[in-house]
Amino acid sequence: MPGENFYTENKDLKFLMDEIIDWKAIVDLKEKIGDEECPYDDAEEAKATYLGMLEDPVGDIAAKRFAPRAEEVDTIGCQYKDGEVIFPEGLKRNLQDLMDAQLMGMTIPREYGGLQFPETVYTAAIEVVSQADASLMNFFGLQGGIAETIMEFASDELKQQYLPRMSTGEFTGAMALTEPDAGSDLAAVSAKADIEAEIDPETGMWHINGTKRFITNGCGDVILVLARSEDASRKSGGRGLSFFLVEKGDTVKVRRIENKLGIHGSPTCELYFDNSPAYLIGRRGMGLARYTAWLMLAARLAIGAQAQGIAEAALQESLKYAEEREQFGKPIRQFPQVAAMLANMRVYTEASRALLYATSEIVDLHQGAERRELKEETKAYGKLAEALTPIAKYYSTEIANKICYDAIQIHGGNGFMKDYPVERLYRDVRITNIYEGTSQIQVNWGISRLVRGDLNEYIAGLAEKVTRNPELKAEVDKAAAVLQECLAFLKEKDVGYRELIAPHAVDIFIDVAVGYLFLAQAEKWEYKVEVARKFIHDMAPRVEMNRQYTLDALLVELNP
Ligand SMILES: Cc1cc2nc3c(=O)[nH]c(=O)nc-3n(C[C@H](O)[C@H](O)[C@H](O)COP(=O)(O)OP(=O)(O)OC[C@H]3O[C@@H](n4cnc5c(N)ncnc54)[C@H](O)[C@@H]3O)c2cc1C
Repeated sequence: MPGENFYTENKDLKFLMDEIIDWKAIVDLKEKIGDEECPYDDAEEAKATYLGMLEDPVGDIAAKRFAPRAEEVDTIGCQYKDGEVIFPEGLKRNLQDLMDAQLMGMTIPREYGGLQFPETVYTAAIEVVSQADASLMNFFGLQGGIAETIMEFASDELKQQYLPRMSTGEFTGAMALTEPDAGSDLAAVSAKADIEAEIDPETGMWHINGTKRFITNGCGDVILVLARSEDASRKSGGRGLSFFLVEKGDTVKVRRIENKLGIHGSPTCELYFDNSPAYLIGRRGMGLARYTAWLMLAARLAIGAQAQGIAEAALQESLKYAEEREQFGKPIRQFPQVAAMLANMRVYTEASRALLYATSEIVDLHQGAERRELKEETKAYGKLAEALTPIAKYYSTEIANKICYDAIQIHGGNGFMKDYPVERLYRDVRITNIYEGTSQIQVNWGISRLVRGDLNEYIAGLAEKVTRNPELKAEVDKAAAVLQECLAFLKEKDVGYRELIAPHAVDIFIDVAVGYLFLAQAEKWEYKVEVARKFIHDMAPRVEMNRQYTLDALLVELNP
């Protein structure tokens, strides 16, 4: 992987951080400037601290340490022996580097030893780390979601007990939701919290029995577990599930780790809970609806950022290769089809990044409003965050898959060989549109929010921010009208029809949103006018195709 610093060399990411993100709005909500405990005098100082950290240590160690170790981590992978998970040396050193740089508690509040940085900084850090080694993100990027869930919903005692050790990285986290018969449909979770067991009135301790599978870092120290706590005959489905914190110990057994296609530096564990002591988080029966939903929103943003980092890596590898590789007496980048693939890879890497960071910003504003107990703002931003996050995750992960596909194509036969990093990137990226909810689940969620009108004002707000390039804007306005036509049509349709066309209608929304976001970017960086022009040029036929699919879907069962 080329590069000295994966943050400063990523011009688009740096531009978003320097020019596009409204740090003042975020800092005003998330920090109490003027308070004794606040380390910043103003939003500018906070911004300088965040971006300074992204440059060094994050961008620096990603390029100089994590990236050079990625091949070794992938080749050796995590091993399983006598109930223990053994990490490759490169992974151990990566984790130590993250701890030494005090990055493991990036979003954890300062009072618990963390940095208390906004989600948007964390998203950028996850992207940069994933560009170097996507599997490392499953420690670094998972940590935030687990810690934030504890922060948000656990008792003060549990916060004191776990968050400081998560901030230093002494403790890492896992989330155990999936079971053999409960994947996309988490309401089917059956692991039974043994409510028959006597609860020690002093500790209030529960016990969990059951098996969870596909648990990333299941060998970690702090495991958040979704389990059935209520009698299924009285409270069926999600209403019978609660959320628990289980600490690693003798009663939590890693039965095996999966032998898998990619992210070899991230152990995927089957866990067996054998009467494991568990702390209830929050209220009984709210495990799925409240706490898992909350955790998954954070985790989905992180996976979107992971995919974004892989896409950037694939793009950079392809640009380098196309420059060096010569055929017919000239570098392959000079052939029109290769040049077009490279241009497309850049435009769509930037497109998914635009939506991902716009979403991150909304998540920050929502969290800030919630902490300040601003009711109206919390509701408004919360609605947006819930609708945008699955769509951004869907888009980043699908785009990244396409970019890795093209990266292999640009490398020709070499791309198929382990000698070049794109082979690993192609394997690593494949999980991103599956875990934390498949793309199908994300667009189902997205379409229900779109039809409800939850993103109408948001789109109108994006349009208002565009003041230049009227011809290009007119094209996006046309697509926005098509979106409204489709949503009005879908209001009259049943859920089955809506889910059938969900990817098409959601894609129209994405084209409109990214079209406006690019045009707003173009007002601050001339280069983006060309990016917007290319994206909007591609968009018109795509929107028309998706409109037709939406208005006239045909589902057939073929049984020859
Ligand atoms: C490497 C790896 C790491 C993981 N890490 C974790 C972890 O840390 N914690 C955790 O709890 N889980 C984890 N998972 C589980 C992961 O989240 C699930 O695999 C994923 O959500 C899909 O569930 P499933 O595999 O059961 O697929 P299924 O739910 O069986 O889905 C199969 C297919 O059916 C489709 N489908 C299902 N329902 C619908 C629907 N309503 N509409 C349209 N299509 C549908 C899916 O999109 C998919 O194409 C991990 C999985 C892997 C592979």
